[in-house]
Amino acid sequence: MRQCIHPPKLKFYHDKNIYSLPQIQKFSKREILEMQAVAQVLPFRTNSYVVEQLIDWDNIPNDPIFRLTFPQKDMLPSEDFNQIVALLEQNAPKEVITEVANNIRRRLNPHPGGQQKYNVPLLNSEVVPGVQHKYRETVLIFPTAGQTCHAYCTFCFRWPQFVGMDDWKFATRESGRFQDYLKQHQEVTDVLITGGDPMTMKASQLALYVEPLLEPEFEHIQTIRIGTKSLAYWPYRYITDPDTDELLGLFEKVVRMGKHLAIMGHFSHWKELETPIAQEAIRRICSTGAQIRAQSPLVRHINDTTEVWTRMWQMQVRLGCIPYYMFVERQTGAKNYFEIPLFRAWEIFQGAIQKVSGLSRTVRGPVMSALPGKVVIDGIVKINQEKVFVLSFLQARESDWCKRPFFAKYDAEATWLTALRPAFEEKKFFYESQLEEILTTKLFSSQ
Ligand SMILES: *Cc1c(COP(=O)(O)O)cnc(C)c1O
Ligand code: SF4
Repeated sequence: MRQCIHPPKLKFYHDKNIYSLPQIQKFSKREILEMQAVAQVLPFRTNSYVVEQLIDWDNIPNDPIFRLTFPQKDMLPSEDFNQIVALLEQNAPKEVITEVANNIRRRLNPHPGGQQKYNVPLLNSEVVPGVQHKYRETVLIFPTAGQTCHAYCTFCFRWPQFVGMDDWKFATRESGRFQDYLKQHQEVTDVLITGGDPMTMKASQLALYVEPLLEPEFEHIQTIRIGTKSLAYWPYRYITDPDTDELLGLFEKVVRMGKHLAIMGHFSHWKELETPIAQEAIRRICSTGAQIRAQSPLVRHINDTTEVWTRMWQMQVRLGCIPYYMFVERQTGAKNYFEIPLFRAWEIFQGAIQKVSGLSRTVRGPVMSALPGKVVIDGIVKINQEKVFVLSFLQARESDWCKRPFFAKYDAEATWLTALRPAFEEKKFFYESQLEEILTTKLFSSQ
């Protein structure tokens, strides 16, 4: 039976209108100016649900959900921060601020992991816009209308899409070329619709991408995944939005047509799973026959303790979500603020996994989504007096690299694969020569 739930209004807050938030009234003018300064560079958007139901305003600034969506002073290098503050204080013209902000943005490594350069596929020697194909079985699609989110995460790795740097944007306006590409690639079994957040689209828009895949010519597509943060940022999407029934009907249809529908729910903290409305949204999605899999990056100041992960995985399993990935924070945006040394990431993962039952141990991590593939830290051990990281690929540009353990010198400071060096006096990691070849010949010259 449907509960009677009054839909709240989805109201967005950003640097121009945060003054109107009652919760912000206790901030000093200077603190608000600081938020606005950071928001000139990194995208800032939060909303009425996050503000009213997720953030604990008695625990500011430490509340993890506050840190998840509200800009913090230390997210920018201090010279950059001071420069923007000075410009705002002088009421500098908008163009001047934008130019300075763009310069700072370019230094924040907007496209890590070779996303733009190496993963864009070709169809009849022309680029297929809004599509990435890195691993053989799975194709990613970025629908144009889904390139925004119900709120923005301060650690977002897709942030250039939100700040109006148009030439950095990759999205598809029409799904036709994407379908042609899939028809020519029978090896693809999975389609992952991503963004931004595709659940910001109307059900009818989403259907334009999903429904064609249910036709007989796409029999090779077995799984449709939709990546979304909406369960955390706007669970009303599945309960009271005007097209909720149409959306859930679309999910049911995918399942009825014999495909697996996986909603890849992004959760950063168990607090996002605590509200009755989020739990109701999960129930409704599950009742369509879709499954929810949960993933999140490990980020300092937000979820960098074993307790948070243990509790989050337990709650996910109890509510019917399958824990899937724990990511290492990517090398972009406010990375200095959020990053965690790899050894610490592994300690947190290992500390949390030992406290949960096997049903939560479906989760893989900590994983770096890097240029050669998804590299997981399997452990830290001493072999013949040498302390090493044990690594392996969960996904790789060359499928045969998967599941072959390899070793890197232990480095207490390293926060990413690129900082690691091979152990045992090896010159290169086993995949490196082949990777160079793939990047220069197969992909690079064809563009
Ligand atoms: C993670 C990822 C996938 C999906 O990999 P799975 O192991 O199937 O979850 C596909 N493409 C890209 C570019 C990815 O980063
Ligand atoms: S939900 Fe994902 S794409 Fe959207 S702001 Fe957060 S990290 Fe970025």
